[in-house]
Amino acid sequence: MVDVVYRFGIDPESGERRPATAQRAQQLLESGNREFSGLFDPDRDPTSPAMITVAAGDLGLDAAPGGILAHEPFAAVVGCADARVPIELVFGRAVNDLFVLRLAGNVLGAEVIGSLDYAFQYLPTLRLVVVLGHTSCGAVTAAVDAYLNTASYLGLSAEHQLRAIVDQLFPAIRLGHAAMLRNWGADAADHRGFVPALLDTSIALNAAIMASSLRSELVAYGLAEVATRFGVYDLASHAVGTPAADAGGEPLIGLSTPPSDAEGFTALADAFAGGPVVAAAMGA
Ligand SMILES: [Zn+2]
Repeated sequence: MVDVVYRFGIDPESGERRPATAQRAQQLLESGNREFSGLFDPDRDPTSPAMITVAAGDLGLDAAPGGILAHEPFAAVVGCADARVPIELVFGRAVNDLFVLRLAGNVLGAEVIGSLDYAFQYLPTLRLVVVLGHTSCGAVTAAVDAYLNTASYLGLSAEHQLRAIVDQLFPAIRLGHAAMLRNWGADAADHRGFVPALLDTSIALNAAIMASSLRSELVAYGLAEVATRFGVYDLASHAVGTPAADAGGEPLIGLSTPPSDAEGFTALADAFAGGPVVAAAMGA
């Protein structure tokens, strides 16, 4: 058992409210996720509660009587609607920190882009935009199934609302599929680990593609100083990372910068398809 304690407004100076740079905003999310994923470490002292401090200002406690809190998130996060991925908890954040949009498969529908356009225009405290996928995503699983099985896709042909999500996921799956064949051979699909491996690759590539699209939006708004990052929340380890490997050959932990061109995406797809997560799925 783990006690998580929220310290509301005990010390107005405690906690860092508004990071000045995108780099610092990224560090805050990554350190928050390290603390959150650390809660599930079997070696953790169960008597020591986890502490999340919310500054007085973030509750409006330092506003004039009757006044309301200014809206000042430092990061926008586009995540999946999956109930197992509570965005604020995953990043160890609380009130007024994150501008969160959640949609199945963390795809970018018109309403999501419209909401982000509002955020970019009216929230000058924003330093970072993150697209967060997650392992075992039901939306991407359905899209992989539709991609691999023509009959399954035909069954969706008249389901326009569902196709609005599934069709958006196909570029990532196609990119991942090609990388799987390059890295594991033309008969890779015969391997029983192929579908889970393609799923892991596609989930990470989808987050990267969506983040890259948002990067273009930001540039169009003249907001190049707002950084875009992507990551995948692992339901097993509770850590945010990608299926690529770090210098030690382990899955990469932390948020990553999305590529900006086709060569970059091909290289990223190869890094995922040739990484440790896919190797484990393929039994290598
Ligand atoms: Zn999902």
